[in-house]
Parts: sequence; structure tokens; C-alpha cells
Amino acid sequence: MHPSFVDLHTHTLYSDGTDTPEELMRKASRLSLSSIAITDHDTISGLDEAEEAGLRYGVEVVRGCEVSSRSPFGDLHLLALWIPKHCPDLEDFLKMQRRLRDERNLRILEKLASFGIRIEYEEVLEQCGTPHMTPGRPHIAAVLLNRHAVSSYKDAFTQYLAEGASAYVPRPLPDFQKVIAFLSECGVLVSWAHPLLLRCPRSWIVDILPEMKRNGLKAIEAYYSEYSQADTHFCVSLAARNGLACSGGSDYHGLRKPDIALGRGKGGLRVTQAIYEQLKQHRQSLML
Ligand code: AMP
Ligand code: ZN
Ligand code: FE
Ligand code: FE
Repeated sequence: MHPSFVDLHTHTLYSDGTDTPEELMRKASRLSLSSIAITDHDTISGLDEAEEAGLRYGVEVVRGCEVSSRSPFGDLHLLALWIPKHCPDLEDFLKMQRRLRDERNLRILEKLASFGIRIEYEEVLEQCGTPHMTPGRPHIAAVLLNRHAVSSYKDAFTQYLAEGASAYVPRPLPDFQKVIAFLSECGVLVSWAHPLLLRCPRSWIVDILPEMKRNGLKAIEAYYSEYSQADTHFCVSLAARNGLACSGGSDYHGLRKPDIALGRGKGGLRVTQAIYEQLKQHRQSLML
């Protein structure tokens, strides 16, 4: 029997990916991926469309979302997986996150204007493929590139948008432990997205995990495009030691991150059905 693979971290054009949910599910089916979690930033608007396409293409859809939170070492990302179809508390929370995001975006444009780069918010919104999107710095970077104000997408961040750069404006984010507790109370499975990308000592990850677990964390993303085998091994054993499950995904963004392939990451990523079944079992045991 063919081994079967999944991808539990993907973005569509409902946030800063470039595929529609339909295109993403079609690609997943061609790649024989059996399950896909759609995890757009701060929105669940693409999920119904993804589920509908998933049914047609024979790919199981895990309803998900990626949420940013504040930690002592900068933005900490959390994946909410198996989001219930109706979850008004979560929708209100995400709506607030999107409002704060819009306000932050406008302040970035003000800063850019003070450098003589005048961009209307409409132009940023035009970079998004749907009226339900969560516009962010990637979309502002695209406008800067179109205007030839920068020589590459990466330069847009280095010169203007990255933390510490001249037009950087931080987004007010809720505390990571509070977000974990809140998401957990919403009945979703919470996984810590790409923990090793956080610029913190590994000892901090080791020390903080038990408290994160007490607040409701259920898994850590142990399989990820940017991870070496040693990174994955570190995460897998850390999860085991803490009684947490493992999740895994590519963080596919379509053309926005062309070096990351759906299901395969930078080439070496394989999130097996077995890993997925363990995550599911973990979830089931918690629901009893
Ligand atoms: P936002 O959510 O609007 O603050 O934008 C964050 C997104 O911008 C991240 O998910 C990355 O895709 C992208 N990003 C952040 N920093 C950089 C960077 N230094 N270079 C390229 N892309 C970046
Ligand atoms: Zn993104
Ligand atoms: Fe992330
Ligand atoms: Fe992501």
C-alpha cells in the first residue's frame, strides 16, 4: 500500500497565500495528500469553500487558522485545528485581530508616506484576491515592489517592513498563554506553530512547555519545511516528554513562498498518515 501524507499548515489567498482554497485542494489531490489543514492568518472565511472542494477532490479538510500572539521573544504563532463550524467567540476574536491588523497597516502607510511613498489602502487591498482576506505586510511589500520603490520582495521587508526597519509598526497582540487558554476553551486543538523559528533559547521552550500545556496546548509542530532532521527530532522528543502530540505542515503560501511546496516543503518534508492519526487520537482522547 502507498504511504499517505498530509499537510496541516497551509495558506490560501484568504490571507497571504496565492491559491484559492479550490486550487489548493486540487493540488493536494494531484499530490495524493489525504488531509489538508487550511490555516490562514486571522480568518476562517476560506474554510467552507475548502471543505466543499475537498469533498469533490476526495481530500479531507481540517478546519484551521493561524493566530499570532505576544511572547517575551516576539510573535508566537499558534495553530487552531478542528475549528467547530459555528464558533461565535472565536469569530469575534478573529474580527478584533483583523481590526487591529488594519489599524497597524494604516500606520505603516503613514510612515511610508513620511518617506515620500504614498500608497492608498485600496492599492494594498487590491493585492488580496478576495474581499474576505486579511491584508498584511506581504501585501504592502507587493505594492512597494510594483511601484519599484524596492528592488525585491525581500528588500521591502529589510528596508521598510521587518521588525526594526524604518516603517515597522508592531501589532498589539494578546499574550500567548491567554490565547492558548482562549482557543482551548473554544474547543479547538491548539498546536504551537514552528516553535524553533521563535528567536528564543531552546531552554526557554523546554521550560515554558508545561505551563503552555496547563493552559490547553495539545501539540507542537514538529514537522516543518524549515526544520532539519535534528530539529524535528528535538521537537518529537520534547512533545513525548511533555505528553503532547505532534503536528506537521509545510506553511505553503503558493507563489508568495515559491520554494515551499505543498506537502513537501523544501523537498524533505513528509508528514505521514501515522503522525496524523496520532494527533487525531490525542484529540479524541481529550474529547472524552
Ligand atoms: P503580518 O501578519 O502582516 O505582520 O505579516 C507577517 C508575514 O510577513 C509573515 O507571515 C511572513 O510571511 C512575512 N514576513 C515577515 N517578516 C519577513 C521578512 N523579514 N522577509 C520576508 N517576509 C517576511
Ligand atoms: Zn503567512
Ligand atoms: Fe507562522
Ligand atoms: Fe503559517
